[in-house]
Amino acid sequence: MSVEDRLELPSYLHHSEAVSARFAEIRKRPTVMSLSAVSRQFDSAEGPVLALSKVSFDVRQREFISVIGPSGCGKSTLIRIVAGLETCSGGSITIDGREVGEPGADRGMVFQGYTLFPWLNVKQNVMFGLKMKGVPKPKAERAAMDWLDLVGLTQFANHYPAQLSGGMKQRVAIARALANEPRILLMDEPFGALDAQTRASMQAHLLKIWKTVDVTILFITHDLDEAIYLSDRIVVLGAHPGRILEIIDVPVTRPRHSDQFLSGHFLATKKRLEQLIHDRETSAKHGAGKLAIVAA
Ligand code: ADP
Ligand code: MG
Repeated sequence: MSVEDRLELPSYLHHSEAVSARFAEIRKRPTVMSLSAVSRQFDSAEGPVLALSKVSFDVRQREFISVIGPSGCGKSTLIRIVAGLETCSGGSITIDGREVGEPGADRGMVFQGYTLFPWLNVKQNVMFGLKMKGVPKPKAERAAMDWLDLVGLTQFANHYPAQLSGGMKQRVAIARALANEPRILLMDEPFGALDAQTRASMQAHLLKIWKTVDVTILFITHDLDEAIYLSDRIVVLGAHPGRILEIIDVPVTRPRHSDQFLSGHFLATKKRLEQLIHDRETSAKHGAGKLAIVAA
């Protein structure tokens, strides 16, 4: 029997008054992005692979949505389609009602790998998109310094990426993405390469940034704690084919802090995610045959 089984956990479906009120408020906000039956098939040597099958969900303004699922379930494919870097074979995606097909300034992207331009300093990296848009240099410089202030890197404006730690590089990447004032910030396992302590501080920092900036966040992770700590809702994907198993309204109150990791609502949500993701992985490995879809 696991520790969670011995503890009296609330249902992850139970919401306190504060959490219910927050979801009621979120549901009144306009829909920023809508995914409708998004599918993607790849051809492989063994035949066609259905990486994503009919994925549908809506994202409200300034919502924080995570997508979680085992390796290979189509998370990166999904976010790359949203970013316009990959096409879908079926379905559609709209942002503010307009169908998206290619990359655009309405979407900013932060990847796991460090994608800064090594030959530009920190400030120049953050200014890059603004300069491309034709913003005059003094204005772009001022804006870049404001974004660097927000991510706590003012003193590093003249440093080059090679002189920064992994966490600092990701902060620059976040500042660079936000400098273009996107409607949606797309993040594909952005903290996956960081050590545990840096990762925890980046998570807290991201929540602080999100509180200050009017931006909607679609965040990919395979870390259960990270998904619960950050998100309003968690889209749980299963593999082969990549499809939605459940969308969880996170029952943990905001503002979030690390001592909530051991709260009943947090643990109950984690247990549900474990059931959906890890138990299925384990039984698949042990050859338990075809798995039923747990919930819709
Ligand atoms: P995740 O990010 O969840 O680990 P991916 O989106 O990277 O998953 O991959 C989902 C599935 O699609 C995997 O089976 C992967 O092998 C396959 N896939 C992804 N990209 C391609 C591609 N360009 N060509 C062929 N198969 C691909
Ligand atoms: Mg991936």
